[in-house]
Amino acid sequence: MSEAWVTLTTNDSYSVGALTLATSLKRVGTTRQLVCMVTKGVGEGMLNCLKQKFDHVVQVEELDSNDAANLKLLDRHDLGITFTKIRCWTLTQFSKCVFLDADVLALSHCDELFDRDEFSAAPDAGWPDCFNSGVFVFKPSLETYTNIMKFASETGSFDGGDQGLLNSYFSDWPHKDITKHLPFTYNMVASATYSYLPAYTKFGKNVKIVHFIGATKPWLIHFDGKGEPQIGGTEQHTKNHLQLWWQLFSNEVKPMLEKSSAFKVSHESYQFMSSHVAPTFTACPPPPPSPPTDSRADWERGSPDYTGTASFNNILKKIDETLAVKDSN
Ligand code: UDP
Ligand code: MN
Repeated sequence: MSEAWVTLTTNDSYSVGALTLATSLKRVGTTRQLVCMVTKGVGEGMLNCLKQKFDHVVQVEELDSNDAANLKLLDRHDLGITFTKIRCWTLTQFSKCVFLDADVLALSHCDELFDRDEFSAAPDAGWPDCFNSGVFVFKPSLETYTNIMKFASETGSFDGGDQGLLNSYFSDWPHKDITKHLPFTYNMVASATYSYLPAYTKFGKNVKIVHFIGATKPWLIHFDGKGEPQIGGTEQHTKNHLQLWWQLFSNEVKPMLEKSSAFKVSHESYQFMSSHVAPTFTACPPPPPSPPTDSRADWERGSPDYTGTASFNNILKKIDETLAVKDSN
């Protein structure tokens, strides 16, 4: 039986993330299948785009934790619906899977995750005795699915989302088996570099998967013509990772969305797709995008175009150079 990466989207907004995620997995040459679970909230035009990028698009019924009180504590009213993630255990046509949130990006080949067993996940940056449920290795099984559903109805979730539920269900994760602790480099929270900059400087170059947690998703942010995120109060590292996301989105996802007859998107209006999620930043109107150049002259001047076709590698190189300078200091 085959193995697969699995993600979830319940609306057109998160679908933009899913499309960019799939693009990133293909870019790093994965040999595994790409699966996207969708619910009825995803529009038809978007569904067609997802079918182009993913090997399988699987319709699932929405699940909601209906736990307003805990979601309020988390300040994320939108996350009850992440219970739908649990449906991934029903994908029994696959022998093993790695679930990835739609807001993650693969930077380099990471198929070795399939050598891990259920249930493997990386520590949560906010509370490291819990795992973060944005990246996890699991084995589809209807028995496990039924058990988690039963557990959910009896115990609920301490945060109102899937992460609280899964941490309570797989409650021996913190202490039982260290091989089920994925390195943080497989789920590096893009904003975690605030809290432990020396560690980022030392290990940042090993990061394989970046996760844009929180309400400010990459597809809600304005980027200028150079692909620079127009967002204040953010560290340079976070901006670099946002640039990576934007580069794949604007070169390989946006053209596809624009072509889709049922779904029109322009540089100025793509963020309206996500109007149900309140952005936590002040968006600035972006200038018109400049055409990609990536000319040799640009490289020789030391100013390669970060929106051009080679730009993903350019940005990675820029990140590595920044880290190398800090390392040698
Ligand atoms: N998700 C979704 N629709 C929603 C909210 C979440 O499809 O309205 C899915 C999507 O795959 C997303 C995951 O659930 O990546 C977890 O939510 P999110 O990434 O927003 O949580 P965070 O990582 O910020 O805690
Ligand atoms: Mn996430």
